[in-house]
Formats: sequence, C-alpha cells, structure tokens
Amino acid sequence: MPTLFTRIINGEIPSQKVFEDDAVVAFRDVNPVAPKHILVVPRQEITRLDQVTDDDEALLGRLLRTAAKVAAQEGLKDYRLVINNGAGAGQSVFHLHVHILGGRPLSWPPG
Ligand code: 5GP
Repeated sequence: MPTLFTRIINGEIPSQKVFEDDAVVAFRDVNPVAPKHILVVPRQEITRLDQVTDDDEALLGRLLRTAAKVAAQEGLKDYRLVINNGAGAGQSVFHLHVHILGGRPLSWPPG
C-alpha cells in the first residue's frame, strides 16, 4: 500500500505543491499550524527518521537543503524545521517528512 504522502506526490490526492525534483516534493500542509506550513517529503518511502540507513544519509542533507530553499522561496527569513519521529512525538503520517513552520513568532520550548 502506498503511503498517504506517496499518493499526494503521485497526484492521486490533491495538494498545493510548491516544489518538486527527482528526490523531494514539498506541498502545503492541509491543516496548517502557522501561516506558512509546508511539508518536505522524499519520494522514497522511509517510515521515520530512525529508519534512515547510512546508504540513505545523503537524502537527509537533500531534505534539509530543500527545506531551506523552499523557505527562502516562500519569503521566510525566520522559521522552524520539525521532524516528528514516532507517534509519541506527534508523528501521524509514517512517511518521513520535514515540517517548515513560519510566518508567526515561534515560542521555545515546543509543546
Ligand atoms: P506528522 O504529524 O506526521 O508529523 O505530520 C503529518 C502532517 O500531515 C500533519 O501536519 C497533517 O496536517 C498533514 N496531513 C495529513 N493529511 C494530509 C493531506 O491529505 N494533505 C496534506 N497536504 N497534508 C496532510
């Protein structure tokens, strides 16, 4: 079964895509928690951060670099990147993704 995000990437489920290349796709979160809330997702189905192997570590750099590019494209200067790893940390879609959050002041520590 393809993941929800694979179905979005493939266009089976509509989304507002803001970036895509051969490895990574970024689209707006359907339930934004900040004025700018974008998900940066690898095409490769990796369940969660702790399932990334050494063979795939370059993909993590690609995800972060893409997140920074997308944030700049969105006009964000200050923003936060979040990866929820596991249900107890708030992960609800088990296809690795980076949240870009911005457009409002972000408090610390997060909840
Ligand atoms: P997680 O909780 O796994 O870190 O983040 C999953 C994110 O996916 C949530 O912020 C949620 O709002 C978003 N999401 C869930 N379903 C959809 C969908 O169908 N379309 C889009 N664009 N985002 C979704």
